[in-house]
Amino acid sequence: MNAIKDLSIRRKLTLVTVFVSTLALLAACGAFTAYELLSSRSDTAGRVASIAEVIAANSAAPLAFGDRNAGLETLAALRGQEEITAACLYTKDGQVFAWHRRNTTVAATPPPPRPPGVYFGSGTVAIHRDVHLDKDRIGSLSIEADLSKTYERVQRYAGLALLVLAGSLVLAVFLSARLQRVISEPVLALERVARHVSLEKDYSVRAVKHGNDEVGSLIDTFNEMLGQIQIGKQELERHRDHLEETVAARTAELTRTNVDLMAARDKAEEGARLKSEFLANMSHEIRTPMNGVVGMTLLALDTDLPPDAREYLETVNASAENLLTVINDILDFSKIDAGKLTLECIEFPLPATLDRLVKTFALMAHKKGLELVYDMDSEIPPVVTGDPMRLRQVLTNLIGNAIKFTGSGEVMLAARLLSIEDGCATVEFSVSDTGIGIPEVNHRRIFESFSQADGSTTRQYGGTGLGLAIAGNLVSLMGGSIRLESAPGQGSTFHFALRLPVAPDA
Ligand code: ADP
Repeated sequence: MNAIKDLSIRRKLTLVTVFVSTLALLAACGAFTAYELLSSRSDTAGRVASIAEVIAANSAAPLAFGDRNAGLETLAALRGQEEITAACLYTKDGQVFAWHRRNTTVAATPPPPRPPGVYFGSGTVAIHRDVHLDKDRIGSLSIEADLSKTYERVQRYAGLALLVLAGSLVLAVFLSARLQRVISEPVLALERVARHVSLEKDYSVRAVKHGNDEVGSLIDTFNEMLGQIQIGKQELERHRDHLEETVAARTAELTRTNVDLMAARDKAEEGARLKSEFLANMSHEIRTPMNGVVGMTLLALDTDLPPDAREYLETVNASAENLLTVINDILDFSKIDAGKLTLECIEFPLPATLDRLVKTFALMAHKKGLELVYDMDSEIPPVVTGDPMRLRQVLTNLIGNAIKFTGSGEVMLAARLLSIEDGCATVEFSVSDTGIGIPEVNHRRIFESFSQADGSTTRQYGGTGLGLAIAGNLVSLMGGSIRLESAPGQGSTFHFALRLPVAPDA
């Protein structure tokens, strides 16, 4: 079946026509031959039946008188009938009375008597009938005829029919090969146009219509489709041209914007650098005279002064100290911002450093009525390597904030040894208080520069919002990161862990 599917339409049409006509002719030949066979057989049977009627009439007397010779003679009259091969007379009770056969090829024994009727055997027909005398049955007769002649004739007839069939087939092939073009030619022409369109992408060609049948309407639809594709293609080309122009324009615009942006970025970077430089210079320049102010104030305070003047000078000293702290913060911040802050790496006694640091806050805590607790793990190595000044700066900021934002209760500095590995001690520092606490939403923000948990802080407690930004940056420069646990009204705890190499001779 697959092989047929792949045949050309011409061959398919020829094949279908020839197949159908062969089937029709075969059926017709078969029907005629069968009809011929049946009618020839029944003709022969009719003829033999007529002969049997005559023989039966002539056999009545021999049977009535039991004259066997007369019976044999009656049967011998059948010699003139070529197709009769045997005949037999039976007595009333079924005994063979007289038996005649044409030649020795016929069966040697007579057939048994059978009820009246026509019996077809293989290549033979037998007629059995009764013999009557005055309406009385006095015996029976059987006559057998050979049908081979009849069959031979039918065979000749069938051979002739086959010859006619073959001739008709040749004619059918010839005619269908010519006539199928009426159907196949328009389809093939359409296929040629479709192939041309597909290979050349040429949508301007059209298939030629041959008639108004289904193929004609298919060609119309195909041509219409080609028209639509052609219009679509033209539209697409117009759009593409337009798109290319638009893309070129946008690219040029983007390149311009990019150049502008880069210029703006360079300008901004230069501005930021100049600002940091200016801040660093300014804070440095302010620090020198401020040191002079503080120094001179301290010298003046060492002299005998009237109480009023002493009070004024103490205020001047406190304000100058505050100002110096702010200026130091700004200087550190601008250094960190410009990436210019470098850490020291020296051996220092960690427990002693923390001890001294806590003591500097004792008075401040006492003035606010706060308990200052210092809890240090005794296993912390006595001497480690790092930047003691920057560590002090971070803890100073955290403890200062803790005291600043705590009204009552305690402030605690704790240092715990987490591990000692590969000659390095990992120490966790934590500063906790029982103060106002910080809402969760501000946990991240307070580490940004100039940020405070809420606007009222500046009014109530003062401060610049730089301390934690600097502390956070310093801790990350030292290889740690500050974490915060706090909730409003429940105090705050700031932690960070540092890996500090243990001094070899510690
Ligand atoms: P400053 O203290 O100079 O304002 P910081 O950067 O040190 O700047 O602190 C930022 C803000 O974080 C503070 O203004 C305060 O709102 C909040 N804060 C810091 N430490 C604490 C603390 N221990 N308890 C409550 N709030 C704190």
